Amino acid sequence: MNQIDNNNNIPTQEPQRQLYFIEKAGELVRQMEGQKGRRLTACIQTFGCQMNARDSEKLLGILEQVGFVESEREDADLVLYNTCTVRDNANQKVYGRLGYLNNLKKKNPDMLVALCGCMMQEPEVVAKIKKSYPFVDLIFGTHNIFKLAELLYERLQRKKMVIDIWDAAETIVEELPVERKYPFKSGVNIMFGCNNFCSYCIVPYVRGRERSRRPEDILAEIRRLAADGVVEIMLLGQNVNSYGKNLEQPMTFAQLLRQVGEIEEIKRIRFMTSHPKDLSEELIQAMKETPKVCRHLHLPLQSGSTRILQEMNRRYTKEQYLALVDRIRQAIPEISLTTDIIVGFPGETEEDFAETMDVVRQVRYDSAFTFIYSKRTGTPAAAMEHQVLQSAVKDRFARLLREVQTISAEVCGRDAGTVQKVLAESVDDHQEGFLTGRLDNNLIVHFPGTVDLIGSIVEVNLAESKGFYYMGSMIRS
Ligand code: SF4
Repeated sequence: MNQIDNNNNIPTQEPQRQLYFIEKAGELVRQMEGQKGRRLTACIQTFGCQMNARDSEKLLGILEQVGFVESEREDADLVLYNTCTVRDNANQKVYGRLGYLNNLKKKNPDMLVALCGCMMQEPEVVAKIKKSYPFVDLIFGTHNIFKLAELLYERLQRKKMVIDIWDAAETIVEELPVERKYPFKSGVNIMFGCNNFCSYCIVPYVRGRERSRRPEDILAEIRRLAADGVVEIMLLGQNVNSYGKNLEQPMTFAQLLRQVGEIEEIKRIRFMTSHPKDLSEELIQAMKETPKVCRHLHLPLQSGSTRILQEMNRRYTKEQYLALVDRIRQAIPEISLTTDIIVGFPGETEEDFAETMDVVRQVRYDSAFTFIYSKRTGTPAAAMEHQVLQSAVKDRFARLLREVQTISAEVCGRDAGTVQKVLAESVDDHQEGFLTGRLDNNLIVHFPGTVDLIGSIVEVNLAESKGFYYMGSMIRS
């Protein structure tokens, strides 16, 4: 409980409470604008995954309601870093950037520096910031981003560093403003947190246990987005396949997917991330029978060695993974598969690595995000013996990358010469008069077109494959 809670006029229920603070913080911002004779600007820098990207849209929505104008520049009146802590070096990057912000703040003492996101959930990080970066104004975590206006108001009133970190989410607050990056597509959180505790991953410690949003709230949000011009949505969760288990009235992700598919104005549905151990037959059927579900599945492998998978606590074997891929491809033959692979997990031998290469050759992914294992302090894997020699890891990584890229160049061109539906997403920065769009299977295509088509689904002849993307020409919109 903080100081401003003592005022009895403040609503206690959410979202009314936050709407009240948006108003109050807005009054202070308008006063500051009067003093400066200009609008105040806010810059959000997002590190990390899709979940953070979506959180940043919510944070920007709140800041804009308070009265800030979005800026890309880090000399803005308010700079907010939405941090990631998946790798140790991500933390170092933030400390480095804070040094830079300190210099900017010396030139503009009214500047506000705020930090939030996964890194702030680690007590040692907050202690270090308090000690070494006392110019930071606001620190909050992953569970209370909805409180930004309240915390900002408190900071503006008290003129002292405000820190508010929750160990766990007390509630999921619905219906606060969001500022979307794209008018025609949007992420939608369906759940937060993760229960899986993969041994290399810090997420369950900083994002907490799994919590699913109620389906009626998710569907209402998607209907609002559809009414506002959104045609493609990405359902987001650390492990969407276990959606709904902790709801008062449990439901499956497959059931949710079918219900989303019934919203007429939504033309494309994507989702991520899918844990292979929880991908059910029911979900495969729902994907098959819901044509709006894009023909693309990101199915993280991490390792092809059953022994390493066990050490990673992934709870599937190489054989189970391959059998799952078979079942998916039997049901949906045209599906594109992508994956994540970690090289050099503690104890990985050349034989283990050969198993990974074997899966890559058998599955033939469209693309794979390949990572060199990096020790993440605070995870069980960081304490494991037999960390692999860097020279061996680099050699394996180079071989894996070559294999992935060769296969990718072969499989990504398979639709050349066909006509496909494409969502026109942006102006092509490299060629005047061209647009960049995305196929249902997530591949990129560049084609001649005009700006007014952005946000529409058009038919494009994929004239030429360039390996990882196509050049095409529009048939009709
Ligand atoms: S499923 Fe595993 S890798 Fe993914 S967020 Fe959860 S613990 Fe991390």
